[in-house]
Amino acid sequence: MARRFRAAGRDGLAATMGKSLLLGAGHVHLHLISRCQELQVGGHEVTVVAPEVFWYSGLASGVVAGDYPPELDRIDGERLATAAGVSCLRTTATAIDSASKVVTTANGRQVGYDVCSLNVGSTSDPSLLAGQHPRLYRVKPVRLLFELCADLDIKVSAGEAPSVVVIGAGVTGTELACCFRHRLSRNGGRGRVSLVGRGGVTPELPGRARRSLERGLARMKVRFNQAGVDRLEEGRVVLDDGTELPADAVVLATGPRAPRFLRSSGLKCHDGDDAVIVDRHL
Ligand SMILES: Cc1cc2nc3c(=O)[nH]c(=O)nc-3n(C[C@H](O)[C@H](O)[C@H](O)COP(=O)(O)OP(=O)(O)OC[C@H]3O[C@@H](n4cnc5c(N)ncnc54)[C@H](O)[C@@H]3O)c2cc1C
Repeated sequence: MARRFRAAGRDGLAATMGKSLLLGAGHVHLHLISRCQELQVGGHEVTVVAPEVFWYSGLASGVVAGDYPPELDRIDGERLATAAGVSCLRTTATAIDSASKVVTTANGRQVGYDVCSLNVGSTSDPSLLAGQHPRLYRVKPVRLLFELCADLDIKVSAGEAPSVVVIGAGVTGTELACCFRHRLSRNGGRGRVSLVGRGGVTPELPGRARRSLERGLARMKVRFNQAGVDRLEEGRVVLDDGTELPADAVVLATGPRAPRFLRSSGLKCHDGDDAVIVDRHL
């Protein structure tokens, strides 16, 4: 049975804690792991569930552009955890039973907790698009983008001119399109990068920033298409204005969605992106 102690929160609320389960070793949990002695001193038992090493998205664009090697982008959360005396389960959480306080993992374990903390990040959802493409890359985890980069490098060294279509022209898609273009250019300039966005380039930014980005895209020879995607097909992306874009690879930057298991576990989630609804205590 877990040992328990009483901890006073910032607002004076007392919380009963014992077994802490951290789902995901993202930005916040990595920081928490590095400071978990403060929890352990109070008799707290900490376990983290993390399927793989952490890939740092802030550096991902530089890796895609070819400025940094992928190895520089990873943090081994398990190593950090072990050094901090935190148990690490190398698996994925697949369900949370918040009534019984049990998390089920992909390797079939049932892990009990007193307090469960979520830092499982986001993903993009290919099911929103009609059709299929054999080389469809979500932007998260960013490791997938590095796999695409390795594939592009092989094609370029074999004398091919690969075409990449980035779907979603928000800040992530626009930045990635420029980085892919940069990578292809520094490797000989062959290949083509297209960016697709129904609402224009980075509609979330103010007008001046948007126009500056549009000029930057044109300068870099990233082809921007203001349209929606009708469907994916092998070797191409068909837009709803009839344009057909050649596509050896498709990158999905259509905005973040929370992992599905959170909603299917019965947690209250936003309709649009499945993000868990939190209160003032998170
Ligand atoms: C290309 C790119 C560039 C970006 N650049 C920036 C930037 O410069 N600045 C910025 O502020 N934001 C940037 N972002 C956005 C940023 O990635 C996110 O806002 C941020 O990563 C969210 O952090 P997080 O810790 O919540 O999730 P993440 O960093 O995604 O970490 C979540 C972790 O949880 C793990 N996990 C997932 N599911 C499960 C599960 N079921 N069970 C257990 N573990 C799980 C994952 O393996 C991952 O390690 C960028 C995003 C992309 C795609």
